[in-house]
Amino acid sequence: MNHLSVCRVCLATENVKLCRIINSNLLTGYELITGTKIKPLDGLPQHICSYCAAMLMKYKSFRDKCCHAQELQ
Ligand SMILES: [Zn+2]
Repeated sequence: MNHLSVCRVCLATENVKLCRIINSNLLTGYELITGTKIKPLDGLPQHICSYCAAMLMKYKSFRDKCCHAQELQ
């Protein structure tokens, strides 16, 4: 399987824009959601599609909001 053109989350391969997860602002959110670390040689896809990236950013924003509110209480 060619991991270079697969979304790590939804496994989409066609008609999607893919970006690399490592060294992006998506890495923290991905690792928080999955409880796993992404390593360059872990044998899994290293990219995420634009749709999953958008959901990831929303989740990260929601989580940050929850944590911030909790600190204020
Ligand atoms: Zn995806």
